[in-house]
Amino acid sequence: MPPARTFSWEEHHMTIQSGLWFDPTKLLIGGEWRSGAGGRAIAVENPSTGENIGQIAEGTATDVEAAVAAAEAALDGEWGAMTATERGRILVRLSRLVTERAETLAHLESNDVGKPLGQARNDAVALARYFEFYGGAADKITGETIPYQQGTTVLTLREPHGVTAHIIPWNYPMQIMGRSVGAALAMGNACVLKPAEDASLSALAVAALAEEAGLPAGVLNIVTGYGHEVGAALSAHPRVHHVSFTGSVGTGRRIQAAASENVIPVTLELGGKSPHIVFDDCDLDAALPTLVGACVQAAGQTCSAASRVLVQRGVYDEVKRRMAEVYAGLVVGPASADHDLGPLVSGKQKAIVAGYIAQGKAELTIAGEGTIHADAPAGGHYVAPILFADVDPDHRLAQEEIFGPVQVLIPFEDEADAIRIANGTDYGLVAGVWTENGARQMRLARKLHVGQVFINNYGAGGGVELPFGGVGKSGHGREKGFEALYGFSRLKTISIKHG
Ligand code: NAD
Repeated sequence: MPPARTFSWEEHHMTIQSGLWFDPTKLLIGGEWRSGAGGRAIAVENPSTGENIGQIAEGTATDVEAAVAAAEAALDGEWGAMTATERGRILVRLSRLVTERAETLAHLESNDVGKPLGQARNDAVALARYFEFYGGAADKITGETIPYQQGTTVLTLREPHGVTAHIIPWNYPMQIMGRSVGAALAMGNACVLKPAEDASLSALAVAALAEEAGLPAGVLNIVTGYGHEVGAALSAHPRVHHVSFTGSVGTGRRIQAAASENVIPVTLELGGKSPHIVFDDCDLDAALPTLVGACVQAAGQTCSAASRVLVQRGVYDEVKRRMAEVYAGLVVGPASADHDLGPLVSGKQKAIVAGYIAQGKAELTIAGEGTIHADAPAGGHYVAPILFADVDPDHRLAQEEIFGPVQVLIPFEDEADAIRIANGTDYGLVAGVWTENGARQMRLARKLHVGQVFINNYGAGGGVELPFGGVGKSGHGREKGFEALYGFSRLKTISIKHG
C-alpha cells in the first residue's frame, strides 16, 4: 500500500492520523481500539482528488466474533441493567458532542466520500438530531395492559432484541448510522456496526464520541472491512438477533438469505427509482426548485433521489425548458469548494454511472447538462449531471437505479397514466406529487406503491420524526420515527392470573 500523503486543513484536506480524537486505523471492539485480527488494511481515497489519504483496518470474521461477544457482555453487564432514561441521557450527551465536533465531522466526511462541505455539514446536523430525538424517546416507549378474562391481568413489555447488526453504505454514512444505531441503542440493544469500506471514518469518529458521552464498553462496536468478509460474517452470525441494512438490492437479498438461516428479523432499505409527479394544475414556481435538487443532491447517490420526473402534457414543455436552465447552471467540483455537486464516491461508481450516461446519449434526447469546473482535479471521480427528455417509461434509464446525477423526464396524459407510470418499476420508496387538487392529492397518496408520499414538497431526506422505508424491491421495515423503536424491540406478553 502506498504511504498516506499529508494534507493541510486549510486546503480542506487532512492527515487523518492527526488532529482527530480517534485512531482511524483501528476497530472498536469491547471498548478497545484494536488492530484487525488479519493485520491487513484498506486504503482510504479522497474521491475529489483520487489521492490516498490514509488507511482503515480490514476486519475479518474473527473480529466480528469478538465484537458480537463484546456486545453480549455489555448486555449482561451495566448496559443491560440501565434504565431507559439513563440510556436516553447518554444519547443526548452524544448529540451535544456531535454538535460540538460537527465541523470536523463534516470535513472528515467530505474528504472520505466527496460530499460538498455544505451537504456534509447538513449530515452532521442531522446526525445530532437523530441522537437527540432517540435520546428523548428512549423512555417514552411503553407496553400496554390488555383487557382479558376476569381475574387475569395481561400486559406487554417492549424488550431489546439483544445484539443488533448494522451494515451501512457510503452515501449518507452519518445519517444512516444515526437513524439506525440511535433507535437501537434507545431500546437497549448492543450494536455491531460495519460501515462501508469507502466511508468508514465518520462511524469511527462517532463511536469515539459515544465513548466520551459515557456509553459503556461493548455497547457500540465498529468493525471496518469488506462486505463479503465482515458484512457476510455479521449477517450470518448465529448470535446476532436483528440486522439493519441499507444498500443495494443484490446485497440486501444476500443479507436476508443469511439472516433467514437464523430466523431473525431484518430491516432492508434498498433504494429506488422515485417519481416526482407534476400535474398541470400545480404551483410550478413552488415545484420547480425541488425537481432537480431532489435528484442531484449527493451527486445523485441518494436512495430517495427523484430520478424520474413525470410531467403532464399541459406544462411539459415549460418544465423541460426551466429544468434545462437549472441543469445548465449546475457545477461539479471538489467537495471542499462546495459546488452544487461533488465527485462520485469511487471510480467503480463513476464507471457504473458513465455506462448509463453513454447509453442515454446514444438512445435519448439530452434536455440539459451541467459542467465540471476547471478546479476539479484529474484524479477525481466527476460526472456532469444530465437530464434526458421524452423518455419511454420502460427504457432502462427510467427503470434502474443509477445512483448518479442522471434524471429522466417522462410526459403523461392524465391521472391514471401518471399512476401507471409511477407504479411501473420494481421499486417503491418515495413519490412526490404536485397538484392543487385536494381530492387528487388523496387519491394519489393512496394509489402510489411507495413507503412515503410527499405532496407539494419533497422532503424525503429530512425529518427524524417521519418513518421511512420502502415497498417492493425498495425493501421492508421502517427506520426513523417511533416506528424504528418498535422495529428495534420485541414484544413480550405477560398474563397474570390473580383470581
Ligand atoms: P452494497 O449494497 O454492496 O454495499 C452496502 C454495504 O453492504 C457496504 O457496507 C458493503 O460493504 C456491504 N456488503 C457488501 N456485500 C455484502 C455481503 N455479501 N454481505 C453483507 N454486507 C455486504 O452497495 P455498493 O456496491 O456500495 O453500491 C452498489 C449500488 O447499490 C449503488 O449503485 C446503488 O444503486 C446501491 N446503493 C444503494 C444505497 C441506498 O441508500 N439504498 C446505498 C448505497 C448503494
